[in-house]
Amino acid sequence: MSTTIDTKNPYNGDALKSYPLDSENAIQKKLDTAEATFKSWKTYDIEDRIDLLKNLADTLHQSKNRLSTLMTQEMGKPILESKAEIEKCIFLIDFYVKNSDQFLQDDLIETDAKESFISYDPLGCILAVMPWNFPFWQVMRFAIPTLTAGNVALLKHASNVTGCAVAIEKLFLEAGFPEGCFQTLITDHQSVESLIANPIVKAVSLTGSEKAGRKIAELAGKNLKPSLLELGGNNACIVLEDADLEKHIETMVKARMQNAGQSCIAAKRFIVVDRIYDEFLEKFTAQVKTLTSGDPMDEDTTLSCLAREDLAETLKEQIEKSVALGAQVAYGDQKDGAFYQPTILTEVTPEMPVFKEETFGPVAAIIKVETEDEAYEMASNSQFGLGTMVFTADHEAAIDRISDIEDGGFFINEMVKSDPRLPFGGTKISGYGRELSKEGMLAFVNTKTVYINH
Ligand code: NAP
Repeated sequence: MSTTIDTKNPYNGDALKSYPLDSENAIQKKLDTAEATFKSWKTYDIEDRIDLLKNLADTLHQSKNRLSTLMTQEMGKPILESKAEIEKCIFLIDFYVKNSDQFLQDDLIETDAKESFISYDPLGCILAVMPWNFPFWQVMRFAIPTLTAGNVALLKHASNVTGCAVAIEKLFLEAGFPEGCFQTLITDHQSVESLIANPIVKAVSLTGSEKAGRKIAELAGKNLKPSLLELGGNNACIVLEDADLEKHIETMVKARMQNAGQSCIAAKRFIVVDRIYDEFLEKFTAQVKTLTSGDPMDEDTTLSCLAREDLAETLKEQIEKSVALGAQVAYGDQKDGAFYQPTILTEVTPEMPVFKEETFGPVAAIIKVETEDEAYEMASNSQFGLGTMVFTADHEAAIDRISDIEDGGFFINEMVKSDPRLPFGGTKISGYGRELSKEGMLAFVNTKTVYINH
């Protein structure tokens, strides 16, 4: 068994760094530190926690270039997307700087009591198991509201972004957060089982695959601990016959190809009404051709390699099986190491892997339908439930469909995206619980009923 986690650059295969795994003793020490820190951290005034958030935003801002380079080296994201990710983290922090005080206020409720209200207490040490596709954003959107509510956190990040995990812990310390508020564990996912069972850990948050979600839900259930799961998706993008393609085609391509398609909320199935189909396919293909592939450190690169070569292999298998079932390659489909050419598949039907599974790479599955009703039915034909987007000139008609959409999000004339001001999460096998906004801040609190008579 390996005693280190070794990171490497997926673009050129260069070895980056070797990180010794934490011993069992080292992990227990971090757990003990977390518990000791929680006792004082939960007593901090909210103003003091907010001051530390402001420092953290400054620290992120000052380190933006260094952290973006690290992210790009570890998982191949184009450097401009890495910089944008750090900026989004700063925006998230600013949002919680402005709103946390109000979100955590007691809620007065009139009852028969002299006074009754809801108060929000932190739970304690929360374990976060995180993925590599947005190495800073995923961690920050969990950590900022969770810590500001008075909890402490332990991070088990995806192994291929261990450098980012170490950097995030340092950021919190540099910003002045007490030692033990946010700690990174250098460990593989085998240790998640004993971590969830440890009495110091009070809850667990996972962003990751359905497979990891099932395992963590099982462990959380066995130990009767709350869990929040942000899992995969295969979002539909419905294109109705009155869609303004000139205006929105760039957004539709971005919705699929951003981060080389490695996004849970990417548009994975394009469901296009027959009357606009040819025009859509022509414009979509033309827009895909404008993507520039190359070295992710080059600012001109808009589509880079996948984060690991095995991810490109999985994608290839999903495409091959779909082609064997009748899908047509309208564009792309070349693989070179971890790089996968942006690919467009037509004649896609529901039994194909590119329709029913999550594809984590730059492949757009195009499905032709006759009517608007059929388009919505096809969109809902999914085990996943992260989000649906629809492009149409008739936004009133789309609004009438809100309750037909079983997903966590419904976006009209916009790609599904996360925004700190709005809740984010899924239904069905995309998980449960909500991050961001007020809901995210209350994800790991004890919602306590207080009832007072004199
Ligand atoms: P993953 O393989 O599930 O890994 C995610 C994290 O879970 C990693 O830290 C991983 O550790 C850990 N893990 C894996 N198997 C585990 C197990 N059996 N028990 C405990 N922990 C386990 O997913 P990924 O490939 O990194 O990320 C891509 C997936 O995340 C996609 O399905 C994507 O849709 C989803 N995602 C969802 C959202 C959302 O908000 N809904 C956002 C981003 C990504 P190791 O690295 O050590 O294996």
